[in-house]
Amino acid sequence: MIKYDTFYMQCPKCGAWLEGHIVKSEMVNKSILYSDGKTLNDNYITEPQKIIVCPSCSHWFWVNDYKEPVVTSKKPEVPYYNWNHWRFFGIHFNSVEGRLALVSHYKQFLQSIDNDKDKELYIRRLMWWAYNDLVRNNYQMHLRYLFTGKMSFNVWRKNRVKQIQGRMMFKKLHDEYLENMKALLVLLKGRYTPDDEEYESSILEIIELYREMGEYEEAQKILNTISRRTHYIAYIEKEVKKRHDFVFLVAG
Ligand SMILES: [Zn+2]
Repeated sequence: MIKYDTFYMQCPKCGAWLEGHIVKSEMVNKSILYSDGKTLNDNYITEPQKIIVCPSCSHWFWVNDYKEPVVTSKKPEVPYYNWNHWRFFGIHFNSVEGRLALVSHYKQFLQSIDNDKDKELYIRRLMWWAYNDLVRNNYQMHLRYLFTGKMSFNVWRKNRVKQIQGRMMFKKLHDEYLENMKALLVLLKGRYTPDDEEYESSILEIIELYREMGEYEEAQKILNTISRRTHYIAYIEKEVKKRHDFVFLVAG
């Protein structure tokens, strides 16, 4: 089954062609979901990448909607850069260095958006996820994960070393991680009303931000106003009660 749609777009500055993929919407429910909202499908982030750095001329530009005429499904007749050349600025998600490079990219983008709140929200949310990437798969460190048989002992052992490195770096960057979450919270609070499509997800995001900031009372206060208990909400509440502040795997 083809999980992705392929598209092509052109750098507005130098005209270079870029090829990319976007996950088909019907595949999203087959994805892996984390408590901070980051969703992966086949290890690819399902959130469309709105900031592109051209691999040919380094110019960076925004793509808000992956629709015609910004993108086309028609393959260009000239050579093009494939997705790996520009996807998340060519960083490697699997190394601590790559994750740190991603954070640096977002810091740089934040400085050039002229107080545009929509853009700031997008960048800060992805930056939050990038910090969390350092500890996102810490659950794989535990012995019980080895016993699931998903990794051989050698792979597990090497992965464990990487997870520990990520955790150390996360601890080191904790102040700036908190600072970004605080700014994200300010952007989200009061942004949507119950009539907005984004309202419910923004409330869950606010609860999760409070939890990860270690402000469990605030998180619980909002949880008490929600009568619906989905698997996701029940899980967050459990972690709030345990006073756990790490990102966790919800489903997948
Ligand atoms: Zn270019």
